Amino acid sequence: MRIEGIPASPGYAEGPLFDLDRPRARYKAKAGAAEEKAALEGAIGKAIGRLAALVEAADGDVAGILEFHIAMLEDDALSGPAFASIGSGQPADVAWRAALDSEIAGYEASDQDYFRARAADLRDIRDQVLRALSEDSEVAAPPGAILYGEDIAPTRFLETDWSEGGGIALRAGSTASHVAMLARSRGVPMVVGLGIPDGPRTGVALLDAERGGITFSPSPAEIEAFRQSASLFADRQGAAQTFLTEPAMTKAGTAVRVQVNIAYPSDVDGIDVATCDGIGLMRTEFLFGKTLPDEETQYRAYRRVLEWAGDKPVTIRTVDAGGDKPVPGFTVEETNPFLGLRGIRLSLARRDIFRVQIRALLRAAIHGNLKVMFPMIATPDEYSQAAALFAQEQAALAALGVAQKLPPLGIMVEVPSVALAPEAFADAAFFSIGSNDLTQYVMAAARDNAAVAHLNAVRHPAVLRLIAAVAAFGREKGIPVSLCGDAGGDPAAIPALLEAGLRDLSVAPAQLAMAKAAIADVAV
Ligand code: PEP
Ligand code: MG
Repeated sequence: MRIEGIPASPGYAEGPLFDLDRPRARYKAKAGAAEEKAALEGAIGKAIGRLAALVEAADGDVAGILEFHIAMLEDDALSGPAFASIGSGQPADVAWRAALDSEIAGYEASDQDYFRARAADLRDIRDQVLRALSEDSEVAAPPGAILYGEDIAPTRFLETDWSEGGGIALRAGSTASHVAMLARSRGVPMVVGLGIPDGPRTGVALLDAERGGITFSPSPAEIEAFRQSASLFADRQGAAQTFLTEPAMTKAGTAVRVQVNIAYPSDVDGIDVATCDGIGLMRTEFLFGKTLPDEETQYRAYRRVLEWAGDKPVTIRTVDAGGDKPVPGFTVEETNPFLGLRGIRLSLARRDIFRVQIRALLRAAIHGNLKVMFPMIATPDEYSQAAALFAQEQAALAALGVAQKLPPLGIMVEVPSVALAPEAFADAAFFSIGSNDLTQYVMAAARDNAAVAHLNAVRHPAVLRLIAAVAAFGREKGIPVSLCGDAGGDPAAIPALLEAGLRDLSVAPAQLAMAKAAIADVAV
């Protein structure tokens, strides 16, 4: 039986099934409320201790996720309701579970992918403390197992030994979750949104995280076909590594620039600058976490990336909050956030916040080869207004004697109005095609909705025709055009993108080698 889902981290896994949701050991209730409270305090402390030990051994983003969990556990606002119910007679485990479940339900009900993805973090915290309460030590999955269930906790992922393979198959889950990000960076195959019927399953399964699916109780013929696909995938990956250190070039000898996309400044730590042509997209909305970052925090983050890149270009995008990326204290509640106040629209509506980012960028510009681009541009007026703010802030900094530089200012081409009438944007220093949004707007198929994923196709002739038109316009007017949507790193889309005239792609770091290998196979 094969069940379809959404690939969240590419690869193949064949192995025994391991049920993530199997029942746990029970908590033994104490004599009174005071002891119950002490038990909960002790369990929270124990969970924090375990996480702190994991932080010691972790690096970069992983440590960041764990520290986020510790901060949540230390937050009285989270544990307060549980202690209150213990006071009114509930045992510690029931009180903690109820308090966390109600918090989780709030996140799960959100229509925004970002908040739904954070529900997994809360479930992780809930289970860490329940485990500490019941002294239940986690039963380890057998080596190479396929972990399946509703969702998986980030700490569970980190504690699992993936050295002998294995994979993750989830009923819920999200490609935008922290675990999905970890799985991609560690190369662990993962599929989400699988309609697996409830109930335990046994035996061996086949996880196809390239196309997105799982096969239970496979027949010998299915196993044979699966192994062939897996071995082709492994061959492609192995062969791709040899391309990593070379400049990208097609079969016909056409040079293609390949840059990388990053979200956090620390992402550059894992990338050899020699393997890419620069940063084609730094998404800055992830710097805008729980609180809005001040000018100094932003300046340091941008400077760090610019210094890493040396002479190579670094394209930093001004904050693209809204849509599927809400920022507390900045974005607004909307019924249709993808068509609402997001990207440059929000920045122009909240100039106080936008000006802080502009000053940080102007100051950072002296430390490298910076380019700045605006997201979600729909009209030339938005570009002019944003450019005018850069000029104003530059003059203000210069008057104060602060070192600064005006970087080239370009635009994302991701709203169909721009792709259809690019001539109105001939003032922009460069174009970067955001194929994720351009595709969802052209096809009227939300990028985060599995039910319409089949419509969200960058290779649809309507999308490709627009991309080709933008590339042709850029060539005619001498405006550099690149593409920084996920399609740029997708080997299946790369031939069509190059045929559409693109010669500059920006891809996720994990896709760099495969993208270069795919380019080498194209005949243009
Ligand atoms: C895009 O839309 O293709 C893009 C690169 O921007 P984001 O995915 O951040 O919206
Ligand atoms: Mg976009």
